[in-house]
Amino acid sequence: MTTRNNSIIDAVIIGGGFYGAAIAIYLTKQRGLKQVVLVEREATLLAHASYNNQARIHNGYHYPRSFTTAYRSRINLPRFVHDWPEAVKQDFTKLYAIARRNSKVTAKQFVRFCKEIGAKIEPSDQSLRQLFEPHFIEEVFLVEEYAFDASKLASWAKIELNECGVEIRLENRVTAISKRSDALNVVIEDKEGNESEIFSRYVFNCTYSGLNQFVGDFSGTRTQLKQEITEMALMDVPPELKNLGITVMDGAFFSMMPFPSRGLHTLSHVRYTPHLHWNDQQGIDPYSKLNNYDKATRVDRMVRDAARYLPTVQNAKYVDSLFEVKTVLIKNEGDDGRPILFEKHQDMLGCYSVLGGKIDNIYDILEKLDEEFF
Ligand SMILES: Cc1cc2nc3c(=O)[nH]c(=O)nc-3n(C[C@H](O)[C@H](O)[C@H](O)COP(=O)(O)OP(=O)(O)OC[C@H]3O[C@@H](n4cnc5c(N)ncnc54)[C@H](O)[C@@H]3O)c2cc1C
Repeated sequence: MTTRNNSIIDAVIIGGGFYGAAIAIYLTKQRGLKQVVLVEREATLLAHASYNNQARIHNGYHYPRSFTTAYRSRINLPRFVHDWPEAVKQDFTKLYAIARRNSKVTAKQFVRFCKEIGAKIEPSDQSLRQLFEPHFIEEVFLVEEYAFDASKLASWAKIELNECGVEIRLENRVTAISKRSDALNVVIEDKEGNESEIFSRYVFNCTYSGLNQFVGDFSGTRTQLKQEITEMALMDVPPELKNLGITVMDGAFFSMMPFPSRGLHTLSHVRYTPHLHWNDQQGIDPYSKLNNYDKATRVDRMVRDAARYLPTVQNAKYVDSLFEVKTVLIKNEGDDGRPILFEKHQDMLGCYSVLGGKIDNIYDILEKLDEEFF
């Protein structure tokens, strides 16, 4: 049986990741919306991509092939540090190393690119350089890049949402969005399979991998998406790597970043982190695909290849893996750019779909929302 409350509320936010939480807080605090319900299918907030990621607060370095993404990161990083100081880890040394062979960028080009985007860069000192294998690494640079603690962002979200009076419905999944003459109709299923309906003036679809998994009148995003099942290994690194974040650029290489919420490091490898991919379409539920995937780790291959560049990585102890679906815009596959997806559904006025390719893109989304009249 479907339960229905006929009154019309201000907004339903679908998805309790960082984006859904930040948007719900923005709508109540800055835009004066009163009755806001946030629906999240998992038992906790920030349980998916907002937790299972590399925790890098980008500062441009990662994107020599996408100037716009690099430039936006430069603008957004200081704002993120200002707004979430407790969740930002700055007390580590960040190195970018340029591979000699098969790199899409040379050391000289990388320096020029960093100067163009105004990002700090200097050659690292000898003690750090000697961690790398000189036959494979052309140059090692000291840069300024930070990490975020997703558990602290989750605690922030919980407190702020409560303070703003947002009603949080955990373990509830939105299955359908439809039009009614005076509102949008959102169908929600709880974990026992009971259905309920909410009528709302606005709906914000902040479901990242789940953006296109609704029935009803929802016709999907215009932007084509690619889904990837990804693995990042969680490593307990040896003392000489403890205080470091390392990225080897720019091609089929790897990154090792502090993962503050577990006190470990993530290891990702461009070749081995993506396990499986498909073009997104309605009816292929990424979360079911992730649940049914066997999740056999590829950490051995990641370590074997990374150790050619950084031999001490062999002394890191494997602890666990974070498996997650990563959603990217098909149009950015070539340049690695991470723009936002912000769509107003013209056939369903009041319904918005959003996706930020990085955590700091939240500012780009909020700027778009600033232009909207609610
Ligand atoms: C492997 C990987 C590495 C990454 N590395 C970085 C990085 O280093 N730095 C960086 O800035 N970004 C990184 N990202 C990107 C970053 O994680 C995302 O940009 C960000 O987390 C997206 O937040 P979100 O709230 O949109 O998504 P999510 O956190 O996934 O939130 C979406 C929520 O919607 C819920 N949901 C889905 N469907 C429904 C439904 N029908 N009903 C109710 N709830 C639903 C889900 O359970 C989920 O909690 C990485 C991503 C991945 C996957």
